[in-house]
Amino acid sequence: MIIVLVGPPGSGKGTQAKVLCGRLGVPHLSTGDMLRAAKKAGTLKQEYVDIMTKGGLLPDEAVIGLIDDRIKEDDCKAGFMLDGFPRTVPQAEGLASMLKEAGRSLDKVLQLDVPRDMLEERLVNRRTDKSTGQIYHLIYNPPPQDAELVHRDDDKPEAVGRRLDAYASMTAALLPYYEERGLLARIEGVGTPQEVTGRIAAALEIES
Ligand code: AMP
Repeated sequence: MIIVLVGPPGSGKGTQAKVLCGRLGVPHLSTGDMLRAAKKAGTLKQEYVDIMTKGGLLPDEAVIGLIDDRIKEDDCKAGFMLDGFPRTVPQAEGLASMLKEAGRSLDKVLQLDVPRDMLEERLVNRRTDKSTGQIYHLIYNPPPQDAELVHRDDDKPEAVGRRLDAYASMTAALLPYYEERGLLARIEGVGTPQEVTGRIAAALEIES
């Protein structure tokens, strides 16, 4: 199964992708995670590091190349779940042509819907444990005292507003692109993670 998860930053995409990929036995391909790993390894161009820190979008060709290489790997043979890609219509077209070339096609685009005020509140309170990767919310899902917490630069208030604005302008074209192709399923993203997983499972017609 080849699935795209679309949702604003803080909508729970990462959390849902982890659960669903486990169930479907497909890898979770997050361009954000891939880029952060490249940044950490020191292999990402400084120009791109600066764009990420400011909450902007990298050039389409850079992320299309990243995904094109990744989906050719063996673990993607049975399918994969894309998270954070495509974000623009040229990226969606890039994905369609790389899949066509491989004789494959996209099964579903899941759009996680969460109101903006709730997203801002989730992001500025989000912290990640450096050693385990576990994500916490300072109020609703507080971390244990010994957690080594990291507040992502782009989760800081000044970048959050820019990322949400970028998402709003991006989806203005991306969602109609997938709706016209009959691939879009809108998922209510407010509720417990389990409730949201249940809604996604229903949209994919798999067991929840
Ligand atoms: P994310 O974790 O998905 O919010 O991604 C973190 C950052 O990586 C974004 O704010 C962008 O700077 C960059 N990025 C990730 N995916 C893409 C993409 N598909 N297109 C352009 N930039 C991206």
